[in-house]
Amino acid sequence: MQLAPSLLLLALATACVATPPADPIDRARALHAQLPVIDGHNDLPGRIRERTRVNFDTCDLSKPCPEFHTDLPRLRTGGVGAQFWSVFVPASTEAGGDALERTLEQVDLVHRMVRQYPEWLELAPTAADVERIRTQGKLACMLGIEGGYSIEGSLPALRLFHRLGVRYMTLTHTLTTAWADSSTDEPRHGGLAPFGEEVVREMNRIGMLVDLSHVSDDCVRDVLALSKAPVIASHSSARALANHPRNLSDELLAAIGAHGGVVMVNFGSNFIDPVSAEQAARTLVVQRELKARFPDKADYDKALAEFRATLVASRGTVELVADHVEHIARVAGVEHVGLGSDFDGVGSLPEGLDSADLYPNLTRVLIERGWSDANLRKLCGENVLRVLREAERVARASN
Ligand SMILES: [Zn+2]
Repeated sequence: MQLAPSLLLLALATACVATPPADPIDRARALHAQLPVIDGHNDLPGRIRERTRVNFDTCDLSKPCPEFHTDLPRLRTGGVGAQFWSVFVPASTEAGGDALERTLEQVDLVHRMVRQYPEWLELAPTAADVERIRTQGKLACMLGIEGGYSIEGSLPALRLFHRLGVRYMTLTHTLTTAWADSSTDEPRHGGLAPFGEEVVREMNRIGMLVDLSHVSDDCVRDVLALSKAPVIASHSSARALANHPRNLSDELLAAIGAHGGVVMVNFGSNFIDPVSAEQAARTLVVQRELKARFPDKADYDKALAEFRATLVASRGTVELVADHVEHIARVAGVEHVGLGSDFDGVGSLPEGLDSADLYPNLTRVLIERGWSDANLRKLCGENVLRVLREAERVARASN
């Protein structure tokens, strides 16, 4: 039988419609090819500074770099299309007085990295640039400052960091700063001090996201009461599943969701595995006690090493990371969950998710648990893109 031309075209068109791959890992990879991951936090710049004194000749990121969790080929295999690079300097620089200078050096390092690999990387000033760069098959790069002490109390420095590509600032790191309380230190401000409020208002005005990872619960509440733009937690998981003060309680997850923000799940064992989290939280308390008991550093180091020898290693698995994703999606809403690996910033990672090429494993687990493509797209990047666009809108409206 001969088909009429219109029927023939219809038959051909039907045959050409791609059916989704049946195998979940192939489906995960196909999904990442369509909508690459936007990851909230990667500490590779800090590791490069420590290991190589910033020499891209001895440390070629376009080749496999097994000493790191991250290199450019593995990010590509992992389906990552945009990365917030952390420009972290230690919280002790606040007392040392060199936080601003060292943060500028880290920003310079990321700019040099982007210039060194133009085939792979491009700086993304806006959400629209993120989308454009991803469609060109390159990795869109944004910067995140980890610790508000980096601006040394200067709003002009904050504004200039924005001009250098910094699109979020985590208000604290492990220590309480001059104007914001940390989740892992003694509170001094009941959350956010008056200058901290000025910083948040200025971040709203210039379009820089406020990052609530690391800050105290009261500080989260203060920021949510104040911020006109939605916020992120660039690398935090659920405290209900892994009881570490760095993770977010259900009350705060729900509040960040209700405010329109995104919580980006940290993959580190200390933040996803209940045994590791409990030990890490206990270590913080013991460190404080030992510091009070042993003023001499050698005595303190010895006592801490003895305590650490009593801890057990517990890495967790990629399934456990999926549990955090699902918990946050349930409590905050599926529009309010994202991914913030903390690759190269944590010592231990779970089985199946211990380097930057393995994001499709997490997506595979979620597909096996029945996640739709639409919800996976939200998790992998649409949610954080929405928050970036909204922060840009708030900035335009306030200028
Ligand atoms: Zn961190």
